[in-house]
Amino acid sequence: MRVGTGWDVHRLGTGRKLILGGVVIPSEKGEIAHSDGDVLIHAIIDALLGALAKGDIGSHFPDSDPCYKDISSTHLLKLVLEQDLPPYHIVNLDTTIILQRPKLREHIDAIRANLAQVLQLEMHRVSVKAKTAETILGELGSGDAIIAQASVLISEIPC
Ligand code: MG
Repeated sequence: MRVGTGWDVHRLGTGRKLILGGVVIPSEKGEIAHSDGDVLIHAIIDALLGALAKGDIGSHFPDSDPCYKDISSTHLLKLVLEQDLPPYHIVNLDTTIILQRPKLREHIDAIRANLAQVLQLEMHRVSVKAKTAETILGELGSGDAIIAQASVLISEIPC
């Protein structure tokens, strides 16, 4: 078994979609990024690559490469699952999103279900938690940034 952690931060701005775990969340602001900005998927990709000791999202999918402009982060995750993960399998995934607004509680199960489908895992292996920044911590607290963290356990033996 191997464990990995991932972390990502994006600025939020108007005129962008807020995409979390492949799900579009109704919001005034969305992630500003070279890709679609799905901060949660970026953290999950880094957790997987970290568990595999295979570098990070930037080394696999550089944001200087025009190929990745506005690309679906879910597509990038699928590439990692197909090309980098075998022979390992994901045992479980735990994530935290830190976002001042909107409140994510009503969207958590939709995000979990979408991630479970992409990762081909049962829902009970996929955890998504959400917190606010208690209106402190600069851009995070003012609702102008978002952070996601992910931890993943992988195993060579399917379980
Ligand atoms: Mg990112």
